[in-house]
Amino acid sequence: MKANRTATLIKLLVLLCLSVLCVSQDFDFFYFVHQWPGSYCDTKQSCCYPTTGKPAADFGIHGLWPNYQDGNYPQNCDSQNPFNPDKVADLRSSMQKNWPTLACPSGNGVSFWTHEWEKHGTCSESVLDQHGYFQAALSLQRQANLLQALASAGINPDGGSYSMSNIKSAIQEAIGFTPWIECNTDASGNSQLYQIYLCVDTTGKNLIECPVFPKGKCGSEIEFPSF
Ligand code: 5GP
Ligand code: 5GP
Repeated sequence: MKANRTATLIKLLVLLCLSVLCVSQDFDFFYFVHQWPGSYCDTKQSCCYPTTGKPAADFGIHGLWPNYQDGNYPQNCDSQNPFNPDKVADLRSSMQKNWPTLACPSGNGVSFWTHEWEKHGTCSESVLDQHGYFQAALSLQRQANLLQALASAGINPDGGSYSMSNIKSAIQEAIGFTPWIECNTDASGNSQLYQIYLCVDTTGKNLIECPVFPKGKCGSEIEFPSF
């Protein structure tokens, strides 16, 4: 009788451990990355507007990327779970508006979203399924109006040059968290504001301070090109 009860207890314990393993996420936080279309387009490679029309002059989502505390990141985690547009049909118009593709040749967004889901999204599928992943990014974007944050500090996409520290503190003040800024160079080699990184906890719902920043460097003064 006693041996029986012990065996049941052990089985329960094993089940408990397995269930914890199954739901535990295998990354530490997300980078939530926005791109400035003016800086994507204003390069030697240039860009193509989506088949659905020229995007708004606003930051667009690039991706929501699972990351490790040590700066490394997982990628392409589940080839059995390909992107399926039907799973995000209700989000599609919002994705077209807020997550537009600028790569050439012109596309409707599906290949960009496919790439982002398959490379990054599959690595957080223990917490967010396809619909949850895209929905999480869209609702995070509503919490973080970067263009407005910058405008309230007089920083506008007018081709002017702005100090990195003013850019960072404008976002810190408006959004509450320190961003990471990635630059690229325009056709004449000027350093310009290309992507803005914020960090998000493993639920995909809350912005947090970044546990680690990506590598790379901008100048102390960078251009904010128009679009
Ligand atoms: P690049 O080498 O142009 O900075 O980045 C190329 C791609 O690698 C990015 O678009 C993204 O998919 C991935 N990547 C680059 N840096 C990071 C990072 O720090 N974390 C994650 N999760 N992905 C990154
Ligand atoms: P990542 O840099 O995220 O690994 O890769 C981005 C991939 O998505 C590239 O293959 C790129 O051609 C494609 N892509 C499509 N549209 C866009 C866009 O608007 N921005 C960026 N950065 N990549 C895009």
